Amino acid sequence: MKTLRSFILSLAVIACGSLFAQESQKDLERISKNHGEYYFTLNVQQPSEIQTISQFCSVDNFDGKTKVTCYAGLEQYQNLLRQGYQPTLMMPPSLQVKAEMWDGNDRANYDWDAYPTYEAYEAMMYQFGTDHPDKCEILTLGTLESGRKILVARLNNGETEGKPKFLYTSTIHGDETTGWIMMLRLIDYLLENPNEPEVQNVMDNIDLFIGPLANPDGTYHAGNNNVNGAWRYNHTNYMDLNRNYADPHGGPHPDGNEYQLETLWFMQLAEDYDFVMGANYHGGSEVVNYPWDNTHTLHADDDWYRLVSREYADLCQQHDSNYMDDLNNGITNGADWYMIGGGRQDYMNGYHQCREVTIECSGNKLVPANTLPMYWDYNKEAIFAFMNQCLYGVHGVVTDSLTGQPIEATITVSGHDDQYSFVSSHLPAGDFHRPIKGGSYSFIFSAEGYCPKMIDVTVADYETVNLNVQLVPGSCILASFGASATQVAMGQGVSFTDESFGDIVAWNWSFEGGTPANSNQQNPTVTYNEVGDFDVTLTITDANGDSQTLTKENYIHVREAYNMQNGTVETCNALFYDAGGPSNNYGNNQNYTMTFKPDTEGSMIRATFSEFSTEANFDYLYIYDGSSANATLIGQYDGSDSPGEVTATNEEGALTFRFTSDQGVTAFGWVATVSCVGDYEPLMLEVTAEPELINEGETSQLNVTVTGGDGNYTYTWEPAETLSNPNIANPVATPTEPETIYKVVVTDGQGSSESGEVTVSIRDWSLQEDGFLPHVYPNPTKGNFTIDMRGAYSYTLCNGVGQQLLSGKAEGKANIEALLAPGVYFLQIIGEDGIKTEKLVIEK
Ligand SMILES: [Zn+2]
Repeated sequence: MKTLRSFILSLAVIACGSLFAQESQKDLERISKNHGEYYFTLNVQQPSEIQTISQFCSVDNFDGKTKVTCYAGLEQYQNLLRQGYQPTLMMPPSLQVKAEMWDGNDRANYDWDAYPTYEAYEAMMYQFGTDHPDKCEILTLGTLESGRKILVARLNNGETEGKPKFLYTSTIHGDETTGWIMMLRLIDYLLENPNEPEVQNVMDNIDLFIGPLANPDGTYHAGNNNVNGAWRYNHTNYMDLNRNYADPHGGPHPDGNEYQLETLWFMQLAEDYDFVMGANYHGGSEVVNYPWDNTHTLHADDDWYRLVSREYADLCQQHDSNYMDDLNNGITNGADWYMIGGGRQDYMNGYHQCREVTIECSGNKLVPANTLPMYWDYNKEAIFAFMNQCLYGVHGVVTDSLTGQPIEATITVSGHDDQYSFVSSHLPAGDFHRPIKGGSYSFIFSAEGYCPKMIDVTVADYETVNLNVQLVPGSCILASFGASATQVAMGQGVSFTDESFGDIVAWNWSFEGGTPANSNQQNPTVTYNEVGDFDVTLTITDANGDSQTLTKENYIHVREAYNMQNGTVETCNALFYDAGGPSNNYGNNQNYTMTFKPDTEGSMIRATFSEFSTEANFDYLYIYDGSSANATLIGQYDGSDSPGEVTATNEEGALTFRFTSDQGVTAFGWVATVSCVGDYEPLMLEVTAEPELINEGETSQLNVTVTGGDGNYTYTWEPAETLSNPNIANPVATPTEPETIYKVVVTDGQGSSESGEVTVSIRDWSLQEDGFLPHVYPNPTKGNFTIDMRGAYSYTLCNGVGQQLLSGKAEGKANIEALLAPGVYFLQIIGEDGIKTEKLVIEK
């Protein structure tokens, strides 16, 4: 479909020929000078030269080889020429096509296929709030000298307490306008389609903030009635706002400039609201860019970032396989592409633990207005799926064990988190939200004046675990530690880091299978010289002589290790590194071919890559399904495009790896484990719904457990309309029919498929024996209400974050006095014949 887009583009070119004609460098010089912003390419020998160029211009793109695209103001541009650079000027993106404008009239017939004038944009934003005061509040972050405002819509169902906050923004670069219209349309869609399950899910469960236009002075640089002539920079100070933020790895003012008003206002928004997740839309490429932008160190949640970025790109590609496929098929680690300092993404992640990504959503920055609806269609599912990710992982409320009051606590994951990835619980509800890749973790809850607490949690991708935690007032010690690596090659050193709480004066470590076997250092380094899975134990002691011991069982996995070389190895249990081994880069000009064969008959080699990094576009790892490089090519991998998990399917069960590097630049390489899996087993499904019988409007958690196949499963559930996501193993169903049969088809990477089904029924209360149906009245109430129901039952009243406020047992009619603040509560009644939850509204 790239062809369709270029087709539409070429129509626009014909329609406005003069705007897009081939201009000479001299003409472009004149056009750029008039425009006030220069857009050009430069050639580099090495990617590292981009750092130098960044001092003279704002780097916008890098093709991974030699070509850097850049913006500069007049002064910067002349400075660049004086430095001896020879830029090739291009037509500024905002002058490449004629932008169809919409003046705000006849809103009912506006189809999102023209760019609004500034007045139309501002009016539309405020109108959202006027038309839907119960669901939408328009925050005015500030008014610029130009009179233009930065506006953010806050959307929810009227309840905000205890919900994760999510932030979508766009167009911090004023000439990257596609995301702006998508965000504007998203607000409209959420407000105008209240009965769509995907809309209800967001409005009911998320406190959502959407700022469609972060740089209005840039977008309307040429005037309020035209986006042709838009600038990347802000209007007043020729500044790239996405280089103007405080940088966790570069400190305050990384660009050497004062914070601009636009920057200050967004930094204040981030201070005021504790965002759990976010995304910032750009244009000029089609890729999801995840942290970090300003360091090659991976984010502690790198595996989670790759999961959610991959999901975004995959959902877009379902509409058009040639869309959202730049760099590593639509995703990239920021620094692997090119490094920038002072970006919004790193600021939000580093200073606010808001898991934010940068989404480049159109190859052209200013797309012909009649293609805007297509971008919405391509992105819509991904936009919703990405928001929903803030509902998965581990969530809950932290309270004082004595008073029951919510408290502000710090939540860290033992041996996993770093200084940027922890989360906090926030008042008034004491709620915390921790998206994380599926796995088993030890969560630590700590707060000033309380004893820290460690809780083991297992969570799967797309699963929500609720964890309400009570902390006991007092001061206590808590043992915790991490390791520099847990998959270890024989002979490799491992650094252990003490992460304990309390005034610890003594550390006593023991390392099964390690040398030394014991240590009294706080952060010892240990070498492992034999193969096996080993426990690590730490005992800490404080000045009072109190001590505590933590053992992590089978924590360190020591394997035989093989560095990339020519040859064949028979094994079913090994580590596999590039030629530089576990800690060094691979070398220049390498060309190795290595084959792994199983050492048990009938098995298949499986390689699982936990880290992967090569020089993108130059240094490649090829994987073949067989015992030589003549076998079928499974894939070729470079940059941060990790092979992930690869399993042999050939008769010998062998995998062959070939690696080639060029001269000049090397990289870390890879860490993979090599294991064996049994013969190919047919797919087997177990399909469940929990619960299978629900009340009207309630949800049921569907799940399919799959065994056999090659492990690369894809899922298709039907009917899709009432599911949170029909393409995952465990969607949430909100059926509307008395009986719904949910059918799932699971397909593996070999193309084998198997289907299964489960029925979810809605309880028909009219069929219950006379008198069972509970009557709750009056509802809404000013406080007191009556439950009327046959037989004995128990009842519980909870608030929106699940805190239990009152409960009791009764028989027949019960008058209940509830002295509670106005709001929406949930009354659960458990009788002999079933459970019923009613929404109870308390009014002033
Ligand atoms: Zn941008």
